[in-house]
Amino acid sequence: MMAQYLAIKAEYPDTLVFYRMGDFYELFFSDAEKATALLDITLTKRGHTAGVPIPMCGVPFHALEGYLGKLIKLGESVAICEQVGEVTGKGPVERKVVRVVTPGTLTDAELLSDKTESVLLAIHQGPRNTCGLAWLSVTRAEIHLAECPSDELEAWVTRIAPSELLHSADASHSLEQRIQALKRATAPGVALSTTARPAWQFDAALGQRKLLEQLHAATLAAWQADDLPQAHAAAAALLTFAEHTQGRALSHVQTIRVQKGDAGIHLPLSTRRNLELTQTLRGEDKPTLFSLLDTCSTSMGSRALKRWLLEPQRDRSEATLRLQAIATLREAGQGQRLREQLKGSGDVERISARIALRQVRPRELVALQYTLQKAELLTPFIPAQTALLTQISAALRPPEGCAALLQSAILDEPAALVRDGGVINRGFDAELDELRDIQTNCDAFLLDLETREKARTGIANLRVQFNKVHGFYIEVTQGQIDKVPADYRRRQTLKNAERYITPELKAFEDKALSAQERALAREKWLFEQVLDALQAFVPALGQLAYALAALDVLCTLAERSLTLNWCAPVFAKEPCIAIQGGRHPVVEARLSELSNASFIANDTALGHRQRMQIITGPNMGGKSTYMRQVATIVLLASMGSFVPATACRLGPIDAIHTRIGAADDLANAQSTFMVEMTEAAQILHSATAHSLVLMDEIGRGTSTFDGLALASGIAAHLHDKTQAFCLFATHYFELTEFPAQHHGAVNMHVSAAESGRDIVFLHELQPGPASRSYGIQVARLAGMPTAVLNHARHTLAALEDHALGHQAQVDLFAPPPAAEPASVGVVEAAVAALDPDTMSPREAMEAIYQLKKLLQMY
Ligand code: ATP
Repeated sequence: MMAQYLAIKAEYPDTLVFYRMGDFYELFFSDAEKATALLDITLTKRGHTAGVPIPMCGVPFHALEGYLGKLIKLGESVAICEQVGEVTGKGPVERKVVRVVTPGTLTDAELLSDKTESVLLAIHQGPRNTCGLAWLSVTRAEIHLAECPSDELEAWVTRIAPSELLHSADASHSLEQRIQALKRATAPGVALSTTARPAWQFDAALGQRKLLEQLHAATLAAWQADDLPQAHAAAAALLTFAEHTQGRALSHVQTIRVQKGDAGIHLPLSTRRNLELTQTLRGEDKPTLFSLLDTCSTSMGSRALKRWLLEPQRDRSEATLRLQAIATLREAGQGQRLREQLKGSGDVERISARIALRQVRPRELVALQYTLQKAELLTPFIPAQTALLTQISAALRPPEGCAALLQSAILDEPAALVRDGGVINRGFDAELDELRDIQTNCDAFLLDLETREKARTGIANLRVQFNKVHGFYIEVTQGQIDKVPADYRRRQTLKNAERYITPELKAFEDKALSAQERALAREKWLFEQVLDALQAFVPALGQLAYALAALDVLCTLAERSLTLNWCAPVFAKEPCIAIQGGRHPVVEARLSELSNASFIANDTALGHRQRMQIITGPNMGGKSTYMRQVATIVLLASMGSFVPATACRLGPIDAIHTRIGAADDLANAQSTFMVEMTEAAQILHSATAHSLVLMDEIGRGTSTFDGLALASGIAAHLHDKTQAFCLFATHYFELTEFPAQHHGAVNMHVSAAESGRDIVFLHELQPGPASRSYGIQVARLAGMPTAVLNHARHTLAALEDHALGHQAQVDLFAPPPAAEPASVGVVEAAVAALDPDTMSPREAMEAIYQLKKLLQMY
């Protein structure tokens, strides 16, 4: 058995092999040691090799999915090795790897997240610094190809966000280093698994051939995918690996999408993080822009919505179609009804992929049938005024014959697995019905036979019976045997009776004894036949899935726009970001949820002449919120959604860059300041006049003068050279001088009002620079100890004096003057000394002025 195990393991050196032994999957040697650590299960020993016990651990077969899920999340791959042969007693049972489960090739409903794709990406380093990329999600019908300059690889990979990355085992040193860097750069808690594949699999000719086979086409020109040799090489490795894991070709993948680097609006990883699109900065799923938007009725819709959000296009034609459709759905008021109808739909996209991969479960087929029937009913409710809705309506037509086949073939409430039987419908197959009838009607048949045989033979006490040893028989007492017909064959002789079998009873016996087994085998065979028949519907089901998902997203966006009071954006040809009454949708929702407070809307006017806003104002004033809200509105409009504003006009946009917040990247040996400067440098290199750039407090990670110098240099570069639309929030008041010399820049500030020592944030964006930072007041709100606040006030006064030209040396660490802690005592003492009963009104007035003075002094 060990020899068999080792032979199998040799074929899967980098994969954990789950080796089936009875009711357990066992792991041996280093696999066992690894799995023990990862799964927290007990390591045992079994047998010896070269005198050393073999480490072993195991998991019960029925708990497989749970353990698989855990390992896949940790970026591991697992080969499931089943017993496929008969137990003969001679040598080990034949075993075979029936599937390989890897993070990028998941198909199991239990392992896949409903709202997230599991993406497999292959990269190929070609000549002349070109990289080829090919990626797919095994449960979708598309394969994506792209070629990019090597130095853009990181940006592509972070955008594609694969679960698993394939590269050549002979990857160059530099590519390997970059892959390692990519692994480290992925979001915390998300393991990017990398898999080395043989170099020969990255072959352009092989890739082209495989793609042509996949598409059943003679040329890739129709997809504009014929002249991409590096991407073809990546596709060869991609498809070979995907087929290897599934144990078959991916016949459902029938579309290629070639992605061009300049087609999409560039959303670097920092932007996705800072805008909290799908994850909060703390790594949680809520509250994010996606969680706010996603009230989809189906998981297909949720996944499509995420794609729309993360892949906005520079070309606005698609977004325009979506906006028209949303406007129509809002007006027609049909959106809500359609959403209700869509609820409970099956995941047609994944079900059709699993049909193609022959992994579909019986209950999924019932869900599919139900959804096909529903889809037909949707069409009359879809207002057909817009091109996109008309297109969706047309694609919603379920493939002819599919629902009927499913209805006739599958029981309404089938068993979970085919292996248990109870899946195929009655009336679908006469032989199966008969086999089932034999099981259920056995007694009736025997009674019927007995009656008929009694009548035929005239033997009144003839009995048809069954026992386990001899099977079925007709028993005739000794006194009656002369009446036994010629076709009776003797089976057994007893003292007082003879037992016979007839051809009819023998035939029944053959059927009955094996009926259960045969019924099961027949069901499995019939299920395979049904799967064969369903293959023809797979492409049409892919179309239907697309239409259901798109309809769901459009209805959802219509609902969100009505519920959240959003408006339709207008696309303009000239460069501009003009927003009236803009709001940050997530902060607004949180405010009303937590405190019922209302969000203060603000306008934005960036255009040809005014490209930069220098934003100042108190801490907590709302600078970051305002900047993020502008970026969020630009993104929402670009994906084709209504936006949280009263009006929005948007010119062409090619990227949204953000440099916000401070975070050490210790894992990559980068300090806060280094991260800040690296991100800023990347922005300066890649931003264009069509980019939106958010710079929040740049230069804060170093000394004041260094920081100020860098901040003004960066602002000048963005203003003069890049000419990007830029929102530049800063606490360096010196930068409020910037607009005086740079005509494309304007000062704005978020307003606040003082009330005694307290501060009230108004969150209103107003023209002009802010007068103060109010840092100490905000620290007071935050609960800073009074002693620290007093110290800070004293130091601040000294610093301000110093800045005004007083030459006194500022010592930040000097204790505040001795009178400071007693300040409250002085005022109190003065109040205590007053005797209101003896004072004239004039004296009282003077005392009040005196007390005010004292307060100011201390
Ligand atoms: P800091 O300079 O300390 O980074 P900031 O000026 O960037 O502060 P924000 O973080 O944007 O301030 O906002 C602080 C909080 O103020 C937000 O979490 C939100 O609760 C509230 N807030 C911001 N803008 C608004 C607004 N327009 N309407 C209502 N509340 C707002």
